[in-house]
Parts: sequence; structure tokens; C-alpha cells
Amino acid sequence: MRLKTEESKLAIAALYRVLVASLVCCLFYNIFFFYFPSKYLFDILAPRIIMLCCLALLIYFYVDPQAHFKNTVRAFLALVIASFVPPSLYFIVMAWQGKWLLIERLPPTSGITLSLLILGLMMLPRRQKKYVILSWSLIAIPTFHYLIFHPAELHTERGYELVSLFGPACLILYVIYPYQSGIRHHMDEITVSLRRSEAEADRDFLTDVYNRRGLQHWLKQLTTNDKICVILIDVDHFKSINDRYGHTTGDKVLIEVASRMRSIYFDKHAIARWGGEEFTVIMVNPNEQAFWAIGSMFQIALSNLPYKTVGKVTVSVGQSEIHSCEDFINLIEQADNALYDAKNNGRNQAIIYNNTLS
Ligand code: GH3
Ligand code: MG
Ligand code: MG
Repeated sequence: MRLKTEESKLAIAALYRVLVASLVCCLFYNIFFFYFPSKYLFDILAPRIIMLCCLALLIYFYVDPQAHFKNTVRAFLALVIASFVPPSLYFIVMAWQGKWLLIERLPPTSGITLSLLILGLMMLPRRQKKYVILSWSLIAIPTFHYLIFHPAELHTERGYELVSLFGPACLILYVIYPYQSGIRHHMDEITVSLRRSEAEADRDFLTDVYNRRGLQHWLKQLTTNDKICVILIDVDHFKSINDRYGHTTGDKVLIEVASRMRSIYFDKHAIARWGGEEFTVIMVNPNEQAFWAIGSMFQIALSNLPYKTVGKVTVSVGQSEIHSCEDFINLIEQADNALYDAKNNGRNQAIIYNNTLS
């Protein structure tokens, strides 16, 4: 859970940076064309429109980064592709038709295209990277192709600049992309293994119910409005089972106790091994009917039928009152007192805590 939150925090921070960087780039182009006006309307309009779109996207993302993450990434990619691919292809097609020289007419966007390529490859989510590569190829390959077939334009300063930018950029693509994928794959493996370790650390190795640590984590996800009831279950004369049948058989009995406990279904609850041959059940917001019945239900389910390995086994059950989950420690004490009474009263029974009793 914690890892997932960290991961999404990182992805959100990365997307913020991509959006802000794109906005700053657009701002740069707007300032540039303000001081050095271009005679083409496209050069003046395009940076303004793209900047406004970036700003709108940034505001949309800022409103709710978690919920708007996917849509923002999609819209950003669509914006980048729409801003760079069709215009570039338009300039190239028109140049092929002899309407103008590509090196004269192609807007000075090779720098920003390259920056966005690297930014996208490094920071966008993995699945979106293929669109970055695709849009880059749609610009680079036709430009390259055009220049090779128009040597007069190739052997100019702009021609050399374009070729020397697109060449190394392709190299970046082939170096960064596999490297990034490798790192990502490695990170995914580490994340999976950490998640597994976290889950395992919360479970009791023998019975596979929560241990105390797991129970603490589980309790944390309850809200202050949640009321709980705590039940403590202790196997009667378990020491003599160990003495008679051996420790391994004792273990099997504990496994069967846990497995029987898991088979009892209740709305929202958690089962944990409290220690040794003692288990606890936490019921969340139990209704009155459930409250009066649940302790006995566990006691009967665990004591009535013989166990596979040792036959008859009984348990004693102590149950607390219902209180806010913040009173967990007090409720455990109440359940412990009730359990003590059940033991003193002859075992093999369930007792609900009562102030006057203890
Ligand atoms: P009572 O009815 O009063 O609860 O008696 P009891 O014998 O169950 O209680 P006691 O506390 O005297 O003994 C508990 C025993 O549980 C002692 C300990 O060796 C055993 N035990 C604790 N953890 C494990 C475990 O993981 N496996 C096995 N086999 N035995 C365990
Ligand atoms: Mg016991
Ligand atoms: Mg005990």
C-alpha cells in the first residue's frame, strides 16, 4: 500500500515537471516571436495556442492530480502529437511539391522536439512511451528522407543542423529507451518483491492469519467512527496436547484452529494470532444480534467437532464490549478479563465482558 502511494507520488511529480517544462518552452517561443516577429501567421499563433492548452492542462491536473492523472497524460500526448506531427508533415509535403524550401520554412522547433522526446522518454508512464517514439519517427524519418533527396538543401547550415540533430536524437532513442525499460523492469521486480515481503511480515508463518504487526496495520485503516468488539480465544490445556502428542502435532492443531476460524464469515472482521495458542478476532461495527452470538459461534465451531490429529479440543472465549477502535488496548484488556473468567469457570465456554463480573 505504502509503495503504491510512493509510486503514484513519483508519477505525479514527474507529470507536473513535464507540464511545467512544456509551458516554459512555449513561453520561450512566445517571447522569441514577440521580439523577433515571424512573417508567418503559424509561427505566431501556434506557440500561443499550445501554451494556452498546456496551461489549461496544468490547471486541470492541479485540481485533482490523482483522479486526473490518466486523462492529463493522454491529453498531453495528444497535444504534443497534434502540435508537432501534422505541421511538420505539412511543411515536408509542401516542400516535396516545390511550394517552398523545407530548410527555409520549417519552424525552428527541432530543439523543443528533441527536448520533449527526452522528457517524454524519461518521465511519462511506460505505456505512453511508444507514442513518443512514434511521433518522433513521424517527424524525423520524413525530414531525413527529404533532405537526402534534396542535397542542395542538405548542404546548407540549416540542413546540417537538422541532420546533426536528428541523427544523435535517434541514438538517444536507441540508448535511453532500452535502458529506461531495463530500469523500470528492475524497479517493478523490486516493488513486487517488497510488497510480498510486506504482506509476509504481516502474517503469522504457521497459521497464515495476521500477526500482531499485521493487526496493527489492519486497525490503522479503520476510521475513528468505526466501533469494534474484541474477542480473545485460547486453546484449553494446550500444553498437555504438546506433552502428549508432540510439538509438531500441537502446531497442526493451531493450523486447524486458524483454518476453522477463517471459515466463520462475518461482515468486516480480522483474525490474528495474538501469541502462542491464543487468537483474537476484531469485529467492526457488529450489530446487536452478531454481538451476542459471535463469541459462542467461535467457541462452538472450534470445540464441537474433533480435530484431525488429536480428537477433542476445546477453547475458551473472552469477548469485550463494543467501543471506538481507538480504545483497542482497553478492549483487549476487557476480552482478557472475560477470558480469565471463562478459564476459571471451567473452560470450554464463551464469556462477554461485564463490569460487574470482573
Ligand atoms: P489453559 O487451558 O489454561 O490455557 O492451559 P494451556 O496449557 O493451554 O496454557 P499454557 O499457557 O500453560 O500453555 C500454552 C502452551 O502453548 C505452552 C507453549 O509451549 C505452547 N505453545 C505456544 N506456542 C506454540 C506453537 O507455536 N506451537 C506449539 N506446538 N505449541 C505452542
Ligand atoms: Mg491455553
Ligand atoms: Mg494461553
